[in-house]
Amino acid sequence: MANKAEGTEDLYGARMRAWERMQAVARETFAPYGFDAIETPAMEQVSTFVHGIGESTDVVRKEMFRVFSGALLERIFEAGGEQGLKPKQRLAMRPEGTAGVVRAAVENNFVPQGGAPVKLWYAEPMFRGERPQKGRLRQFHQVGIEWLGAPDPAADAECIIILMDFYKRLGLAPEHLHLAINSMGDAACRPAYREKVRQFILDHADEMCDECRERAEINPLRAFDCKNDHCREVMKAAPLAHDNLCEACAEHYAQVKRYLDEAGVTYEEDPTLVRGLDYYTRTVFEVEYAADPAIGAIGGGGRYDGLVELEGGKPTPGIGFAVGFERIMLALEAEGVDLAGEEPGCVYVAGTEADLRPNVFSTTLALRRAGIRTEADYQGRSLKAQFKQADKHRASLCVVIGPDEVAAGTATIRDMRTHEQTSVAASGLAARVQELLA
Ligand code: AMP
Repeated sequence: MANKAEGTEDLYGARMRAWERMQAVARETFAPYGFDAIETPAMEQVSTFVHGIGESTDVVRKEMFRVFSGALLERIFEAGGEQGLKPKQRLAMRPEGTAGVVRAAVENNFVPQGGAPVKLWYAEPMFRGERPQKGRLRQFHQVGIEWLGAPDPAADAECIIILMDFYKRLGLAPEHLHLAINSMGDAACRPAYREKVRQFILDHADEMCDECRERAEINPLRAFDCKNDHCREVMKAAPLAHDNLCEACAEHYAQVKRYLDEAGVTYEEDPTLVRGLDYYTRTVFEVEYAADPAIGAIGGGGRYDGLVELEGGKPTPGIGFAVGFERIMLALEAEGVDLAGEEPGCVYVAGTEADLRPNVFSTTLALRRAGIRTEADYQGRSLKAQFKQADKHRASLCVVIGPDEVAAGTATIRDMRTHEQTSVAASGLAARVQELLA
């Protein structure tokens, strides 16, 4: 028997309906804010992620699934490495959505230059070579938004408001959500802050793990995120981002908080919140399902004012978030909310005799063309077996076609719960069925 790849999941039945429902809720939630859907390729040139996410991040260094055709792989083996490969031959499955969307915006010239901001949303699988566990997969699904061209702190606040609204519409109680926010500064103040943290780690090197010592040089801010409790304890005394913001960043952050207060959004400032990708500037945020924090973050995002330029476009501010479907499902389960909803019912068309099959065919076709989910028998079943089949299909109504109905130009509608039967003219069947279903 063939097995699926580790850390992946087949989506079907209720789980597929839940994923579809999440996308529908996303569309409804984002539409009033002017977001249009986008789909970018599942694989991109490695450079798109390296430029955007950052060479030193775990995502790029350790978790990205690289893609080579068999022929290319042979060449790499023969050459003893990837040297000599052209950038277009170095591909990876996308580990997150932002870098690809920004690449698409730059490449297709829809990055705003003094024009209206670009607002896009996506619902796509992402791929990361992590150790699979509950709520952590190698192929998982994200819904996200990207908003380019809006430097105003109101955009940061609105992004967070959209995110919290999305959770609420999915069925998560706002009081069970924990929203943490922070400002990571910008190109003016972050380098000096980064250096302070680097120096702090070096000063405490003997108290910290090997990985944090390594982080000091490549990505010191990540030490705040270390899984090692002792490192986290040491980092409590480290210099904090919000004490090291330049005046412009401090003012931006203050305004974001002012807007959130005005909108009645509850948040907690977490000066140690640093997000794993290098492209973030100023506002960052993350949401946990407080009723079960073991689920991990159910969403997060932030501002990335330098990213468009890193992807080869003109300097353009950007902000966005991503929400993980699989973790939302864990939170909704804990909440007792069924996002999938009931399996859809249908109408079943039954023929009393085998030679009425063409009549069943045309009736079924007419109902389906009227937009009604309709089933029929394709195995030559008896009438009794067709009724049984109708129950299996969760049909609330059965349309019965017999010789009398054919002769009179009518159809019999049987209510599958009460077994009550009524006769209607064949020409008015679809309308009557629609009425009964409503
Ligand atoms: P990130 O880009 O890491 O901030 O991810 C955004 C959201 O995607 C997280 O808040 C999670 O809900 C979800 N997520 C990230 N990585 C995984 C994973 N490996 N498996 C399932 N969900 C994930």
